[in-house]
Amino acid sequence: MTERICACCSENLQSVIWAYVSSRTPKDLLYIVLRDAYLDFLMTREMTSSFLLVTFAICTLIIAVGPSELLRIGAIDVDGHFTFKPSDLASVSSDFGMLKSPEEPLAVLHPSSAEDVARLIRTAYGSATAFPVSARGHGHSINGQASTGRNGVVVEMSHRNIRTPEPLVEPEEMYVDVWGGELWVDVLKKTLEHGLAPKSWTDYLYLSVGGTLSNAGISGQAFHHGPQISNVLELDVVTGRGEVMRCSEEENTRLFHGVLGGLGQFGIITRARISLEPAPQRVRWIRVLYSSFEVFTEDQEYLISMHGQSKFDYVEGFVIVDEGLVNNWRSSFFSPRNPVKISSVSSNGSVLYCLEITKNYHESESDTVDLEVEILMKELNFIPTSVFTTDLQYVDFLDRVHKAELKLRSKNLWEVPHPWLNLFVPKSRISDFDKGVFKGILGNKTSGPILIYPMNKDKWDERSSAVTPDEEVFYLVALLRSALSDGEETQKLEYLKDQNRRILEFCEQAKINVKQYLPHHATQEEWVDHYGDRWDQFRSMKAEFDPRHILATGQKIFQNPSLALFPPSPSSSSASW
Ligand code: FAD
Repeated sequence: MTERICACCSENLQSVIWAYVSSRTPKDLLYIVLRDAYLDFLMTREMTSSFLLVTFAICTLIIAVGPSELLRIGAIDVDGHFTFKPSDLASVSSDFGMLKSPEEPLAVLHPSSAEDVARLIRTAYGSATAFPVSARGHGHSINGQASTGRNGVVVEMSHRNIRTPEPLVEPEEMYVDVWGGELWVDVLKKTLEHGLAPKSWTDYLYLSVGGTLSNAGISGQAFHHGPQISNVLELDVVTGRGEVMRCSEEENTRLFHGVLGGLGQFGIITRARISLEPAPQRVRWIRVLYSSFEVFTEDQEYLISMHGQSKFDYVEGFVIVDEGLVNNWRSSFFSPRNPVKISSVSSNGSVLYCLEITKNYHESESDTVDLEVEILMKELNFIPTSVFTTDLQYVDFLDRVHKAELKLRSKNLWEVPHPWLNLFVPKSRISDFDKGVFKGILGNKTSGPILIYPMNKDKWDERSSAVTPDEEVFYLVALLRSALSDGEETQKLEYLKDQNRRILEFCEQAKINVKQYLPHHATQEEWVDHYGDRWDQFRSMKAEFDPRHILATGQKIFQNPSLALFPPSPSSSSASW
């Protein structure tokens, strides 16, 4: 008991000192003392010195800011659990982007059912301040999209240490039902047990189902199958009113389409029914180089226009603006068995383009796959000496980026700031983009892969909330750069952020109507522009399904009322919406 008192007093003292040195306001100080002491109380339920401190602090806070949300949250009865431990709060306060100063929420919920999520949201909805609630998938956002700020509760959807519903495969019906926080890599493992797999992917599988469905979920299969949001049959969603709603093409249709690509604004996805296909066993993976952008895009567009049996199954590509890039994390494929010497294929050291294609096959077809690939490749106009081929299991192909992740982690190069910029560029202007950005703004140094591949708009459901350019074919351009504090000037965070700003400015000045994918906008005016003539519909759905602006406030599209009570600390970058 004595040890316990000393430990919590010392933690509280540390909190006060920390808050003091962070130059927070007296209200913040009081808030932190209250929070940590109350948490101790919740955890021990013992009459310790914390309890006396809590009583004092609660009384003072009630006088200062009204009834504490902590009291409400602590009283919610859930099958999972809440955590208030500083280390747990810290673990959800940052993301893959590492671009914002971390802001710890009031609490973290580890739900074990949709009802747990609904109970929390009903409490938030009924509270005077309507405190924010954000689902966090795997925290792989770039700009704090899954955070709530200091006055909210983060729902850890992908936490491994809690029982959530297992993926349930229905082989006859060719679908799998999965928990919203399930990682795609686990969905794949489960469905492969039945010889089945989802049809549309992201390049990286350690992302949550709810997280990618809130955006779109794209990779080289999207030209044929559409994005992941085009391959969902049914959802369970907890709305901003705390109702659990089943939705599909037949039932609650507006919510179904709105949630897909809806940036978490209308509800938290707790279950998704994903369409499956027979899983291929092997993949023939081919990369070829181009020095002409026009020839490269002509070939990419030709490949995505093919839809019969005889076609490639995956079409992507990337830009090589400097030699270092060819051996970066996205292209480990080339080395060590296939080391590429750019100088051997490029006469003047200018920009090169790499087309990446795959042919899936079953082991029983291994005799015919060579011929099939040869026939398909005859139509392409790449540099003849630049063909790099490998052959691997389907699961290894899909999980390829994880291998690169492990390598980067071993060199401490994974947990670094990622000022990523993802743009959808209309086909009619991709050549202007190449001249202005790849051959212009980027110079000949970059600090990470630059992906480029086209998609067909008719594979995207116009009723979903995802925003794409107004053309039948558009490109994803993904500038996936990492910032290094001890690297060259061109690898520094400020340099890369400035380059992103210049790219967006260039597009605006050149009137290239790009749309951001995984969008991040600083003002509501920019959001209105992002949604264009769909803004009114988006806003009216928000009014219907999350009228108190509780959900996914980290996207900074709509203002949550409680932000007025605890505005973001001055050190964190905030939107002026
Ligand atoms: P989070 O970052 O945790 O959440 C993202 C947003 O979705 C937040 O607003 C959150 O509140 C909301 N959200 C999370 N879960 C739910 C839910 N269950 N219900 C409702 N809202 C929810 N994207 C692609 O499309 N293709 C790629 O190839 C691709 N590759 C990537 C590779 C890497 C290494 C990384 C870091 C990201 C990549 N992404 C890709 C981006 C990825 O799709 C987004 O980061 C996405 O947000 C998924 O990440 P997450 O599951 O960690 O979600």
